[in-house]
Amino acid sequence: MIAQKFEYVVPTSLGDAVNLLQKHAGHAKILAGGHSLIPMMKLRLAAPELLIDIGRIPELTYVKEESGKIRIGALTTHQVIESSDVIKRRLTALADAAGLIGDIQVRNKGTIGGSIVHADPAADYPAAILAFDATIVTLGPQGERLIPASKFFVDLMTTALEQNEIVREIQIPVKAGKTGSAYLKMAQKASGFAICGAAAVIELDTAGVLTNVAIGITGVGSHAFRAGKPEAALRNQKPSRDAIKAACEKASDGIIALEDIHASADYRLDLTRIYARRAVEAAIERAE
Ligand SMILES: Cc1cc2nc3c(=O)[nH]c(=O)nc-3n(C[C@H](O)[C@H](O)[C@H](O)COP(=O)(O)OP(=O)(O)OC[C@H]3O[C@@H](n4cnc5c(N)ncnc54)[C@H](O)[C@@H]3O)c2cc1C
Repeated sequence: MIAQKFEYVVPTSLGDAVNLLQKHAGHAKILAGGHSLIPMMKLRLAAPELLIDIGRIPELTYVKEESGKIRIGALTTHQVIESSDVIKRRLTALADAAGLIGDIQVRNKGTIGGSIVHADPAADYPAAILAFDATIVTLGPQGERLIPASKFFVDLMTTALEQNEIVREIQIPVKAGKTGSAYLKMAQKASGFAICGAAAVIELDTAGVLTNVAIGITGVGSHAFRAGKPEAALRNQKPSRDAIKAACEKASDGIIALEDIHASADYRLDLTRIYARRAVEAAIERAE
């Protein structure tokens, strides 16, 4: 199908983009990599009157480590994230997630900001964003707003972003001690989207006790979520295979799983328990 007719503008500064979004609120959409929005428009699931292409705003593309945080500009592509040395070293699960997205064409054009705003329930980043306790920095007419990842993903393709706000960057705190992270998924073969994806971030003290465990799950429910029960069960424990397995048996507790042509709800719940365990084991193996 062909998209409905629309106007197209290319601001060259973030301020101009915010002003345009405010002026046309409710009728305009931000265009980043276009790998989710354009298909939605062609299917007439989205019909904005105006596209505001932020692709030529240089101040939105960067990966920086400063003041105990890694800051990632919203327009940074999946390809840059998967190959960034600082992300591979410090936020390995995020690099894993980026490298598992679609194919190289999608990773060359798609952006982290576009992916989290689109909030596809099967997208990869949200699991890692939640497990790393990221903060989403937005810019709107009232200025900057900081949204914790735990409050950002609200429902199926719905986030806490206001219509007149732009995501500016994603901030992730850097852990000081012995830490490791991993993201693994069972992918839908044609698109690469997650049938179930799990990200784990762990911290160990000098005695080898888990001082922190965070597990983010995507692809299973209407939006990504944290698996709180295994996190609590593993905290302050010396990890063993049996303890991890027993804890991760609770990873799907209370979750209402999606059901579609790719997988039944029960299958997704089974995968949640399995992938949570595998992600925790992989994160511990990588800890340094
Ligand atoms: C064939 C194919 C396979 C794919 N496989 C996967 C996969 O395996 N895993 C996965 O996670 N994803 C997958 N994707 C989706 C891909 O990751 C997209 O790139 C991503 O979801 C959207 O990013 P984008 O930059 O293209 O955003 P766009 O399509 O440009 O925008 C998406 C939405 O976000 C809004 N938006 C974009 N940037 C901002 C911003 N900075 N502030 C406010 N709003 C903004 C837009 O208005 C729109 O509503 C696939 C896509 C395709 C086409």
